[in-house]
Amino acid sequence: MNNFEKFCTQFVQNVGSKDGAVSPVVTNSASFAYGTPEIGEGIFDGSVKKPLYSRMGNPTTTRLESILANMDGGIGAVATSSGMGAATLATMSIVSSGDEIISIGGLFGGTYALFSETLSRFGVKTQFFDVDEFENIENAITKNTKIIFLESVGNPNMRLPDIKRIAQIANDAGVALIVDNTITPMSVSPLLLGADIVLYSTTKIISGNASALGGCAVFRAINDDEDKFKTERYKDMHKFIKSAGKMALIPNAKKRAMRDFGMSANAQASYQTMLGLETLPLRMDRIVNTVHTVVTALNKEGIKVNHPCLESHPHHARYLEQFANGCGTLFTIDMGSKEKAFKFLNKTKIATLTANIGDSRTLALHMASTIYRDFDEETKLFLGITDGLIRISVGLESAQDIIDDFLTSAR
Ligand code: PLP
Repeated sequence: MNNFEKFCTQFVQNVGSKDGAVSPVVTNSASFAYGTPEIGEGIFDGSVKKPLYSRMGNPTTTRLESILANMDGGIGAVATSSGMGAATLATMSIVSSGDEIISIGGLFGGTYALFSETLSRFGVKTQFFDVDEFENIENAITKNTKIIFLESVGNPNMRLPDIKRIAQIANDAGVALIVDNTITPMSVSPLLLGADIVLYSTTKIISGNASALGGCAVFRAINDDEDKFKTERYKDMHKFIKSAGKMALIPNAKKRAMRDFGMSANAQASYQTMLGLETLPLRMDRIVNTVHTVVTALNKEGIKVNHPCLESHPHHARYLEQFANGCGTLFTIDMGSKEKAFKFLNKTKIATLTANIGDSRTLALHMASTIYRDFDEETKLFLGITDGLIRISVGLESAQDIIDDFLTSAR
């Protein structure tokens, strides 16, 4: 049984109900009546499990959170208004001024900007490394390092991290590991590999139809005995460990980030995301097969394609060993120049030109003139952004239709 088969059962059974409304109920209320002051007090001190206010949690969103926590083997999750909301929630709930972050691998432009521009304005320094710089990563850890951050697949450089080995480095040093698993839900299980927090932009393959912006952070349980979050490095979290025990990372995220920054998910988006979840394993299974077929065909025709399923890719062996269920919907092609890339994008009839990924439709985008346009040359080089680079996110169309269209467009 591959990973997708298992989730086929899990998702449809968890999204639907066997009693009453089958489809999840959408609770479109910003606030909730407590009835009595005693219940109100209980809700605020956590002894009464009822909704407090939709910024801090909503029943429809709670359902989505429990399904995503279950998917990754986490103890709980916090859904957010966007994937960037999830990255901001997870990082801002851990760092303070003077702290350091180690970021590994090719990074989505928004996350790169969050670290290099926004968090640096608040005194948080980030150092960036390639996925294979194991020694430099180890040496960069100081007493102020609070987070090691990586993406399960470099977007768009397609380099694959050895998540287990990096988790070992993080765990040996007692530093939190956060993995953005947006591109590989179900195919990679970061918590099982030793990570502490997993992030998703649910906007992408999880909802899959460009109808709902959303994100989610999934958290592991705090251990009963020793735990890195019980050390001096994370002293600001100790009060949550005292009050919430195993669940501490949830109130830590809600009270140290969501309450004040307000990146909360809305009920309608959570509902639409759950509708997407029902078919996620089917779509992923089909798309990773299509990616292989398309990448192999384009490569054979001499197009410069970047994907680790190709033997020529530096992480091909790692791909075979650690990414048995593929690495998501992406690959890139390098047309050699901006002019040639634009010519391809003007000719393609099948690809929709947009800054999204993981859609049911095939999407394409010229990287250097869009998401990475504000970055300097050195940063673009580090992130693998060349003038002719086009990122493709494969959709549900027939593989042959995509191949035919791309070969015609590349001529
Ligand atoms: N993480 C990755 C890997 C992404 O590709 C994106 C968006 O493109 C995000 C995070 C941010 O997600 P959102 O657009 O939902 O804020």
